[in-house]
Amino acid sequence: MERERLLGRLRSERFDLLVIGGGATGCGIALDAAARGLKVALVEREDFGSGTSSRSTKLIHGGVRYLELAFKRLDRVQYRLVRDALAERSILLRIAPHLTNWLPLFTPLYRTYQLPYYWIGLKLYDALAGEAGEIPSRFVSSREARARFPQVKTEGLRGGVLYGDGQFDDARMNVTLALTAIGQGAAVANYVEVVELVQREGRIIGAAVQDRVSGGAWEIEARAVINASGPWSDRVRQMEDASAQPILQVSSGAHIVVDGTFSIPEAGLLIPKTEDGRVLFVLPWLGHTLIGTTDESASPDEPPIAGDEAVEYLLRHANRYLTRRVERADIRASWSGLRPLIRDPRATDTAGLARDHVIVESPRGMITIGGGKWTTYRKMAQDAVDYAIRQAGLEAAAPCRTAALPLVGAEGFDPANALLLETRYGLDTDVAQNLLRAYGGRAEQVAELLREVGSARLALGHPFLEAEVVWEAREELAQTPLDVLARRTRLAFLDQAAAKAALPRVVAVLATELGWDSERQQRELESALRTIETGI
Ligand SMILES: Cc1cc2nc3c(=O)[nH]c(=O)nc-3n(C[C@H](O)[C@H](O)[C@H](O)COP(=O)(O)OP(=O)(O)OC[C@H]3O[C@@H](n4cnc5c(N)ncnc54)[C@H](O)[C@@H]3O)c2cc1C
Repeated sequence: MERERLLGRLRSERFDLLVIGGGATGCGIALDAAARGLKVALVEREDFGSGTSSRSTKLIHGGVRYLELAFKRLDRVQYRLVRDALAERSILLRIAPHLTNWLPLFTPLYRTYQLPYYWIGLKLYDALAGEAGEIPSRFVSSREARARFPQVKTEGLRGGVLYGDGQFDDARMNVTLALTAIGQGAAVANYVEVVELVQREGRIIGAAVQDRVSGGAWEIEARAVINASGPWSDRVRQMEDASAQPILQVSSGAHIVVDGTFSIPEAGLLIPKTEDGRVLFVLPWLGHTLIGTTDESASPDEPPIAGDEAVEYLLRHANRYLTRRVERADIRASWSGLRPLIRDPRATDTAGLARDHVIVESPRGMITIGGGKWTTYRKMAQDAVDYAIRQAGLEAAAPCRTAALPLVGAEGFDPANALLLETRYGLDTDVAQNLLRAYGGRAEQVAELLREVGSARLALGHPFLEAEVVWEAREELAQTPLDVLARRTRLAFLDQAAAKAALPRVVAVLATELGWDSERQQRELESALRTIETGI
């Protein structure tokens, strides 16, 4: 079994680099370092992406809002950040074509003076992206808006602007980063928690870890240690020094998911400034409509939950712009995530909060990286690995390679293969398309499993298959029902009632694959049920 092999390596080898945290940042670092020929270990205390990285708005973007700030404040740093994020956008769309897509975004405008303002801004956004921008921004007249976007309220509408950004499946991308890192030689495991840092002669030389599946404990030694634990970075920093000053400012952001018919087909809706100054997105995502997001102060010590107030806020604001009223009863799923903004201790600006990512080294040599965003995980990883190489004198065999390194599933991916899958395996169109989207060039290998386990769906009306559970347990390190339902298929993020209904089958399949006894099955079922019911 793959996880046992990886744990064996984590137990017995000494590494160049130990990465703490298996979100986008940590998995990106493990991949970058392994691809340079370094010996890398990564431990994640829960599942890959179970922290913040499965809970984003799923946009690969430069940040139109930040560009506006760059100009309003004549801020070159902000401007550079948007430009760099746009460069990353085109890289991600290239290295993971199966998990990403271009998404046109429509911004309705209700005041005439806003039209030139937004049009110029978006033309600049295009120019910054260079040739990489595939959907040139353009003005949309009120007549076209009425005809093309009937989901949007047209009362007082003066027109709008349309532009393009990237969209992706964040949790699958995160798991895929972990798998690609393993393919490059990294020893990576989920459900292994750092419980203590190991020091020798005043330097951090590794960590004491605990396997949360089997309960085993041991120490991992490495020449450099990177703390990439996102909203929990201060908790890990305080393992070194309980009095270390916090550098994080954590806030939470909630989303709700409703039926796909609420969104504009093939396009998202962006409200750049709600009445209280926040950004609101209404996006088509995996056949549903994603509405987000809020921004509230939060603590990393409590699981983030989309509470009543956040849900109310999203409904109230979405209903100001949508023609068809979204009611509470329409909500199929909701979730919340913690935004790990970091305070740069060296920052001189009054705001203090880093707009970019920040790398901080502790007195005993642990490197912490935080801030940034999903879109920039690759650049963050590159900078963190460069830092570790310099700090610990590591000998990398190659320079950073990730800008041209396809992620698992990218090779052999051809969107036209959906038809081939349909005919060869007798699949429904939605199922074939979903297999291709999720597994890319490996979709056919997943489809081959249908011969062994049949073609039953996990839930009525959703394209996910029982065969995927088998694949995910065998090939993608899935260890719990929610690893399958929340992060590898996205059923629990799309339709919580359907996820609940699918749970017993998922537990039964995982029990066969992972050898669970009946007591373990019951425990897994109850734990997953609790999480789905209290909020993913
Ligand atoms: C609501 C919201 C919407 C967003 N939307 C977007 C968007 O549309 N586009 C975009 O580019 N960005 C977006 N972001 C930002 C993006 O999601 C984050 O910047 C990114 O996911 C952070 O990844 P991370 O790896 O640093 O943190 P995480 O994903 O939280 O990973 C940290 C990991 O560390 C693990 N960990 C913690 N302690 C330990 C320990 N002791 N031992 C082992 N492991 C440990 C945790 O379990 C966790 O999995 C959004 C963020 C939020 C909150």
